[in-house]
Amino acid sequence: MRNIGIIGSGIIGLLAAHGLRKAGHQVTLYSDRTPEQWLQGRPTGTAARFDLSLQLERELGLNHWDDQVHWVEGAHLLVCPAPLNRLLTLTGRLSRAGQAIDVRLQSHRWMMDLAERGGRIHIESVTVSRLEEIAAAHDLTLVAAGRAELCQLFERDAARSVYDAPQRQLAMMCVKGPKMRFDGLPLVPVKFNAFPEAGEVFYIPYLHKDVGPSWNVLFEAKPGGPLDRFREARSGEQVVEIAKGLFRELLPWDADWFQSAELSDPNGWLVGAVTPTVRRPVGRLPSGREVMALGDTVMSVDPIAGQGANNGSKQVRNLLECVAERGDRPFDAAWMSATFERFYERHGQPTYAFTNFLLEPITPAARELLMAQYGSDGRRGNQSAVQRLADAFTENFNDPALITPVVQDQGRTRDFISRTTGGAWFAAFARGGLGVARGQLLQKLGLDPKHPPQRV
Ligand SMILES: Cc1cc2nc3c(=O)[nH]c(=O)nc-3n(C[C@H](O)[C@H](O)[C@H](O)COP(=O)(O)OP(=O)(O)OC[C@H]3O[C@@H](n4cnc5c(N)ncnc54)[C@H](O)[C@@H]3O)c2cc1C
Repeated sequence: MRNIGIIGSGIIGLLAAHGLRKAGHQVTLYSDRTPEQWLQGRPTGTAARFDLSLQLERELGLNHWDDQVHWVEGAHLLVCPAPLNRLLTLTGRLSRAGQAIDVRLQSHRWMMDLAERGGRIHIESVTVSRLEEIAAAHDLTLVAAGRAELCQLFERDAARSVYDAPQRQLAMMCVKGPKMRFDGLPLVPVKFNAFPEAGEVFYIPYLHKDVGPSWNVLFEAKPGGPLDRFREARSGEQVVEIAKGLFRELLPWDADWFQSAELSDPNGWLVGAVTPTVRRPVGRLPSGREVMALGDTVMSVDPIAGQGANNGSKQVRNLLECVAERGDRPFDAAWMSATFERFYERHGQPTYAFTNFLLEPITPAARELLMAQYGSDGRRGNQSAVQRLADAFTENFNDPALITPVVQDQGRTRDFISRTTGGAWFAAFARGGLGVARGQLLQKLGLDPKHPPQRV
């Protein structure tokens, strides 16, 4: 049994705490919030998770909300190259559904679970000098403090960190009112609208701590663009009002759906930005003692691909394996680095690449894939070639290693289209292109483009 200290009671600190506790280790969690304070505060993010993450939560007995959530069954993507021009859609099914639970509800419950399962909990805001004491008293100290000040202990990895400034201005809101399904869509998706000039807007089925099944809506605005209107908002009500205006202006196809939206609770919103950053996993304290970073503290990504918490969960699974393999040997700096590298190679790098890929202008390869899948409708049991392509794209949210390397390379993308459709890539591309051209013509005539599956 090892003695392990963890700073931070967000998703990742708590997953690590439960996993290590289950493996028989003594765990002490240091949190600046009590379970009650979690319920009173602001969420740290949306944190929709896909199956690889949910599997870990099931193994740890933390999946308390499975019979209450509206499962995320897939993704519906609409690409609008110019305002109001609905160029194409993708509707893909996940092989196993995902879910988004209010992180405040989750941390509240998981902290209480930890105490029941023999974990120790200290409520305090840990300073660097206190971290010295904690590190001295434990075999391993994990810092899962999110993007808070303690992350400065860990040097930014300049070679891996592609950006030094946020790529999007974010506005996130928990809303009740809009119905839980979309007419004509055969699944409950993350509904994703991409405006290459302006940014992205997406809505995620969400289990809110007070109102239950509802929505979490996220605006990802390119700085200075038409979606970048939330910077001055001072309340959640203002955020929702600004969002309603933007729906009417830029997303009229969903404006009626959003019209009834009201803030789910006064704290259920965020406005800000994330600088996508990879840090070194080992932090050296003034005494020379070493602590290890976990979750957003070591790697924070823009939420555009819904990957931060998923990525942290994959770190935790890797950590649990590495701790088990370490036996009684010390958790030294070399072990911390090797542990992170093992995760980074398998999951971290593809996740970072996938997220950055969505932040950047669409590549010719991705354009070909989107054209080739055109016609996907997400219907259960649809085994058509276009559906297989759309499903493969959607599954990448669960495991970004699946096709991120493919869509970064035109040759591999064409090969992937051929293999998945069982025909020439160009035939699939041309078929999709014809459908897209038909939608463009209909819009020119002032008609609905009639994209699959019918509604948008
Ligand atoms: C708008 C938005 C939407 C998102 N959507 C998604 C999504 O759909 N899917 C997804 O996977 N990810 C998403 N993310 C990212 C996801 O929310 C984060 O990756 C995840 O919550 C990080 O968890 P964490 O435990 O590492 O950090 P946090 O959730 O930030 O938790 C860290 C905790 O440590 C505490 N703490 C900090 N400093 C101290 C200290 N000195 N002493 C004690 N405690 C301390 C903090 O109070 C906090 O409670 C989103 C993020 C944002 C901002």
